Amino acid sequence: MKIVRYATETGPAYGIVEDQTVFAASGDLFGALTKGDSVGNLADVTLLAPLDPGKIVCIGLNYALHAKESGVTDLPKEPVVFMKPPSAVVGPGEPILLANPQNQTDYEAELAVVIGKKAKNIEPGVATDYILGYTAANDVSDRVQQKGDGQWIRAKGYDTYCPLGPAIQTDLDPGNTKIGSRLNGEVRQNSNTNDLIFDVPYLVSFLSKVMTLNPGDIILTGTPEKVGGMSPGDVIEVELEGIGKLTNPVTAR
Ligand code: MG
Repeated sequence: MKIVRYATETGPAYGIVEDQTVFAASGDLFGALTKGDSVGNLADVTLLAPLDPGKIVCIGLNYALHAKESGVTDLPKEPVVFMKPPSAVVGPGEPILLANPQNQTDYEAELAVVIGKKAKNIEPGVATDYILGYTAANDVSDRVQQKGDGQWIRAKGYDTYCPLGPAIQTDLDPGNTKIGSRLNGEVRQNSNTNDLIFDVPYLVSFLSKVMTLNPGDIILTGTPEKVGGMSPGDVIEVELEGIGKLTNPVTAR
């Protein structure tokens, strides 16, 4: 099932997408959603970030070729964990506001896991029971501050530095999904989640032994190689097979 959140006159609503049609959905995102009447074509509804996440837990250097291009010679032996604040989230079509346009600020296409059930101390073999679905994320990163600060929260935590969407896909193989990005229509990243160093079940289990994961928490699983900088006036598109295209214009703050 492909779930979207969209704007209505009375506030955000959930919908279920079939082909290119959005149907109203009633019920609870973390319980059961029931399909209602058609509300229009996907192209005609104003999509929002598919949820207001709780924690945004992120994994760095989780694709070997990206770790290499980042100058890391020894691959991580355990997941590299950091977090982004929920205030960084924007939806499809919303601008990324570059806080420091003079600093190289990169796009990073990522598969994001949406937690569906409270997970504490779980094992990889049961991890999928705790996952609601998957969405696409752009882990926008100020490289100058990331290197200079010695930790990554400021560099990746500015408002608008976590585009999310366009949909939550509940039926997806997180170990074999095409992932890519395009800058102004030109292909930049083009990979597959089968290149992840630590796969999704491992990450959910690993993190659940660090912190309790609650429904609505998300995990950004890392980006493949060929990240690059964005400038005001650019349009960045992250695409994941089965989820769709997450497109955001870039401007100065
Ligand atoms: Mg990242």
